Amino acid sequence: MRNKRGAKDVKRAELQAYLNQFLAVDRVKDYCPNGLQVEGRDEVHKIITGVTACQALIEHAVAEDADAILVHHGYFWKGEPAEIQGMKKRRLQLLLRNDINLFAYHLPLDVHARLGNNAQLARLMGWPDPSPLTTVEPEGVVMCTELSHDEDAGALALQLEEKLGRRLFCAVHQAQPIRRIAWCTGGGQGFIDAAAQTGCDAFVTGEVSEQTIHSAREQGIAFYAAGHHATERYGIRALGEHLEEQFGLAHRFIDIDSPA
Ligand SMILES: [Zn+2]
Repeated sequence: MRNKRGAKDVKRAELQAYLNQFLAVDRVKDYCPNGLQVEGRDEVHKIITGVTACQALIEHAVAEDADAILVHHGYFWKGEPAEIQGMKKRRLQLLLRNDINLFAYHLPLDVHARLGNNAQLARLMGWPDPSPLTTVEPEGVVMCTELSHDEDAGALALQLEEKLGRRLFCAVHQAQPIRRIAWCTGGGQGFIDAAAQTGCDAFVTGEVSEQTIHSAREQGIAFYAAGHHATERYGIRALGEHLEEQFGLAHRFIDIDSPA
């Protein structure tokens, strides 16, 4: 059914079932619930996508009269306090008061073969034929590829900065040319050893830890921390565009910038 704004109305339950199946939520063990995290109105015609379900994103959704918000970083992380107080109360209150649905897809979105964060970063960077690094779980959380030519470590840093539109946090260059490259969007710095052990020349992720630098230096692997937020803007946006196509929903991606 078409509403007065020309976008289609879709039942929330239909959207929920579709997304859960499309992203195969049952196949991945995660640190948060994936799917509908906060229930809102029954019918959806306008969705807002964003990286994180922060207060500012919800305010945008309210201002735009959206029926659902879809994010990569939602709520209810394993180990966080269960009480609904302070910041958490304000976010949930704004959602519930406005009857807006919140869908969150974390690891299932990272690893999706076509629309996932890793797949979309490869697309943005022009890295050909990505395949999962098979020594890490869940499958697809670290991807790798063989470039068609030798790349200089400094040139790869410049390409990342140009495509992502921001300076790298940190880069460890190596003298040898880069052929085999591995990556994990977001906070994937812990996977640098797996990348080094499988013969990769470079590893790209969002964040860096103190020990990451030593791992890079001592194993001779080039390393780039390109931003957690910056590397994870693409999956959720692609998912929103997919829903726009699939269901005729109105969709807008809102980038609430984060330097992290
Ligand atoms: Zn993330």
